[in-house]
Amino acid sequence: MTQPPKSHGRLSISASLTPRDLMAERPALKGAWRAKIVTLFPQAFPGVLGQSLTGKALDQGLWALETIDLRPYGEGKHRNVDDTPAGGGAGMVLRADVVHRALSDAQEGTVPDRGDWPVVYLSPRGAPFTQATAKRWAGAQGITMLCGRFEGVDQRVLDHHQVEEVSLGDFVLTGGEIAAQAMIDATVRLIPGVLGNEASTEEESHSNGLLEHPQYTRPASWMGRAIPDVLMSGHHGEIAKWRHEMSQALTRARRPDLWAAFKSRQND
Ligand code: SAH
Repeated sequence: MTQPPKSHGRLSISASLTPRDLMAERPALKGAWRAKIVTLFPQAFPGVLGQSLTGKALDQGLWALETIDLRPYGEGKHRNVDDTPAGGGAGMVLRADVVHRALSDAQEGTVPDRGDWPVVYLSPRGAPFTQATAKRWAGAQGITMLCGRFEGVDQRVLDHHQVEEVSLGDFVLTGGEIAAQAMIDATVRLIPGVLGNEASTEEESHSNGLLEHPQYTRPASWMGRAIPDVLMSGHHGEIAKWRHEMSQALTRARRPDLWAAFKSRQND
């Protein structure tokens, strides 16, 4: 019996750049923001950064992404990158000498000033990543990120390279790669030209210390739910006022921490 043909869905896709081609062979524009990622899983990049607006911007050379595979810097025939923790305990720790060789190579072509070129270790112990971090990083020439795995990285290499530890949030991931992609996404979208409509980064959540107002689009009535009248009124002043009030009410209800900070700034 002849086999039924396998699904040919994918065959209809015409030859085009694969996401990883976005990283190789793409000449970045002069002075474009650059991200260098030291990782045991370079194939995880560009990942979701190769899609949509960040992917298009990568294609256009508005920013550049380079991975540095940690594995070849390992020791011995098996290119070991980790060892057991000093003092005992579970798991493995990435070796200082191995990470140092990779980070040193990664720094080629960058600038030594950490303000112009932060060197970051993704870590649950780090300072929480915020919109302010993204803004600061977007203003630098580029960034180097070290993705940890296992129990983490030997402290000495972090100290030696004046590495900034930054956390995606108060939870533990298995590796730094997802955190790196999330933080790069938030940073790259602040680079001029990456978002079509630049005004959209000014009024969104966290840019002014408040959460964004609710958004609606057509149809005007859906499942018996109408769009608030004011949004259909065409009255720009009233719309702006309603949005600001909603933004404040949402922030007060959902994020007392942000609300308190907002109020104290207003009182200054
Ligand atoms: N033993 C460590 C956790 C290691 S998790 C500790 O208790 O602090 C393995 C790797 O995942 C870390 O080296 C780090 O690079 C990454 N990682 C885990 N959680 C993260 C988070 N919240 N933010 C950023 N990176 C994180």
